[in-house]
Amino acid sequence: MSPVNIVLMGPPGSGKGTQAVQLAAALGCEHLSTGALLRAEITAGTPFGEAVAGVVAAGELIPDELVDELVLPRARAAAAAAGYLLDGYPRSLPQAKALLEAEIPPDRVIALDAPAPVLVDRILRRARVEGRADDTPEVIEHRLRVFAESTRPVLDLFAERGLLCTVAATGPPDTVASSILDQLPRKDRLR
Ligand code: AMP
Repeated sequence: MSPVNIVLMGPPGSGKGTQAVQLAAALGCEHLSTGALLRAEITAGTPFGEAVAGVVAAGELIPDELVDELVLPRARAAAAAAGYLLDGYPRSLPQAKALLEAEIPPDRVIALDAPAPVLVDRILRRARVEGRADDTPEVIEHRLRVFAESTRPVLDLFAERGLLCTVAATGPPDTVASSILDQLPRKDRLR
């Protein structure tokens, strides 16, 4: 069976990380989370991590060239093997264009969608469990605005290419997971 390349998009609090883990396992592709890759660099105190820590803590997007450098080689390797599941990339138009120009286009883009109050509530609950530095109410509001401004145009681009499916992310995780799988054609029909 051919490898499948999927981009999973969704605002902070949409359950994107949880769904990405399940979906990657269901499809047998490699889960690449930019947030997790960035946090690993920050925790390890690498020069890259030190360069981006302040930007991540402020809820801003780190510069496109840096994220491209982090993600594209891994996405290319995954696309040549089991396929990729990109979680948190692309998040801006230049990143989306870099992915398409790298000639490893997604077979499908899944956009998780939920109303803002549901998102804020979920992020605040996660903040109490995980203690993430970018989960304060002010930074959450800023991250939601950044999503609306920088990431919406990416959804529009993928919609124009006929790659986008939108899935309601308001229900319990298992319900959302099966709605996502319902949106995907059978693996062997994706290509
Ligand atoms: P996430 O865990 O996906 O919510 O990402 C956490 C933070 O990492 C974001 O608020 C950004 O600061 C940074 N980040 C993650 N993915 C990207 C990306 N594709 N482009 C720029 N910054 C990113």
